[in-house]
Amino acid sequence: MVGGANCPQCGAAVEAAMPGLPVTTCSSCDAMLVISDGQISAVGDSGRVPFDVSPLQVGTTLQVEGARGEIVGRERWGWERGSWNEWLLYLPGGDLRWVAEESGLYMVMSPANPRSDVVNRLKEIDRHDNAALGMTVQHENTVYTVADIKTIRCIASEGHLPEVITANFPRESIDLRTGDGGAFTFQSDRNGASCWVGRYYELAELRPGNLRAMEGWNRPRFEVSA
Ligand SMILES: [Zn+2]
Repeated sequence: MVGGANCPQCGAAVEAAMPGLPVTTCSSCDAMLVISDGQISAVGDSGRVPFDVSPLQVGTTLQVEGARGEIVGRERWGWERGSWNEWLLYLPGGDLRWVAEESGLYMVMSPANPRSDVVNRLKEIDRHDNAALGMTVQHENTVYTVADIKTIRCIASEGHLPEVITANFPRESIDLRTGDGGAFTFQSDRNGASCWVGRYYELAELRPGNLRAMEGWNRPRFEVSA
């Protein structure tokens, strides 16, 4: 933990790094900062997260898999036809989940390590581009169908984050679905490839607390005081 650190770019006070999350953003100048061995360095531009109407914010709590975590960071990603938030949920003990927010649904994703033949099939699908829509991939006991293949870019990020993803960072993304809310995502970018598995939830199912206050918006009855 770094106490009382200052942004090397603008001098503003910066929050201490969280365990397992070496990257943070400066809320004054949008520098992306890496804190390591007590040293803080600016490594690029995090971008500025644009205004949106999400009920979530850094500080919102959500309950997943029986544990209540807190949102500590967010990345906003986009492509030619839209953009969305990916919120980083920090669970007790330091486990992380990404919560992708899409049309009022929340896809809670955990890191997955599929067998190498599954990864090779995903890489093959990536090369087929849109011709692969509708193809299937089996991970463990579940069959997922390719729903979406696209090149996305990080628009901006804020808060505490696990890796350096500066503004405009490009990534290839394949989204796969089951018919009953299951989701699997394959991502590849210059840092490597990763797989994520999870499912969709409605906000009420995540028993949220500390939602964002917005003018003209009534806080939902399912919000908890946690
Ligand atoms: Zn700064």
